[in-house]
Amino acid sequence: MKVPTSMRTRVRADRAGCMAVARVLQAYLDGEVDADTASKVGTHLEDCRRCGMKAGTYRAIKASLARRDTMDQLTRRRLEDFASRVAEQYPGA
Ligand SMILES: [Zn+2]
Repeated sequence: MKVPTSMRTRVRADRAGCMAVARVLQAYLDGEVDADTASKVGTHLEDCRRCGMKAGTYRAIKASLARRDTMDQLTRRRLEDFASRVAEQYPGA
């Protein structure tokens, strides 16, 4: 089966776009890219299901990491509270 040249070109262009997006995706999700890059990436994520799914996965991972971070901080504060209470109850321990 012969693949039309126009289609080959489009696929190659899309793949280049995917690679460019993959390079900046983390920074994009962190809001660390300039407005021009952000709009290009945003457009690509809407057009490209594969990159859109990848971005969704990164977002989910980041969200769960953020939750775990908060939980760790709370746990640590509770432990510190507990430790200081114990220290008050048993001075010199
Ligand atoms: Zn893509």
